[in-house]
Amino acid sequence: MFDSHAHINDAAFDEDRDTLIESMFASGVDGWIEVGTSVKESKKAIALTEAYPKIFASVGVHPHELQGVQESGWDELARLTENPRCKAIGEVGLDFSRGVDINFQEAILKKFVTLAQAKKLPMIFHVRSGNDIDAHEELIRILKTYADADRPKGVIHTFSGNLKQAQEYISLGMYVSFSGVVTFKKSDELREIAKTIPLESILVETDCPYLTPEPFRGKRNDPSFCKFVIQTIAELRGTDVLEVEQKTHNNAKKLLGV
Ligand SMILES: [Zn+2]
Repeated sequence: MFDSHAHINDAAFDEDRDTLIESMFASGVDGWIEVGTSVKESKKAIALTEAYPKIFASVGVHPHELQGVQESGWDELARLTENPRCKAIGEVGLDFSRGVDINFQEAILKKFVTLAQAKKLPMIFHVRSGNDIDAHEELIRILKTYADADRPKGVIHTFSGNLKQAQEYISLGMYVSFSGVVTFKKSDELREIAKTIPLESILVETDCPYLTPEPFRGKRNDPSFCKFVIQTIAELRGTDVLEVEQKTHNNAKKLLGV
């Protein structure tokens, strides 16, 4: 199985990072995308891939970290994307949970789209609604401003929207990614979506160390816990765990070139 979104460079892994990484490969994890959240973290993500051939990286700035991107930061990010282990631009996107500065976030997001187009890389989108603004509606609006041929491919990480939005993203060429949230008690709507949309458009992820799936919710998350996400999706769809594992791995290969 392949985890499309992990943060093993997070301080939560400082005590045992190397042993944990080795144990991941021993427990059926084929690899993951180490996702950058700032210029500094993107640099660290690339550095991690250099020590471990099964780990790939993405380079980007989380919407909460945007204030820190200076011109020199953009040069650094562009340079990092030249590394062959960089497989995506992300995580980038829209997050209104701490306030609604749509114009600012949209302008930066469009710069990342330009970078993705120039480097021919897919994008990992972080999308979080807040303060009565539906961030998915805003991202769908932005994606529609690009002609089909110019629109970057991408994945909506830890999808949190409704079924109609998931279908709209898919029609725009996006993948929809499910994390441990799909196993949570209150996630009935999300489970309905995971059951309904085509398996060809689904990726799985952990977003570790956060969002640990049931039955380990509350514990530190890691890429091996992807199996609980896969199990849940397989149960919902009445299909084989192995089929979901292989299909989502293939989808990750197709989108991210891993
Ligand atoms: Zn993340």
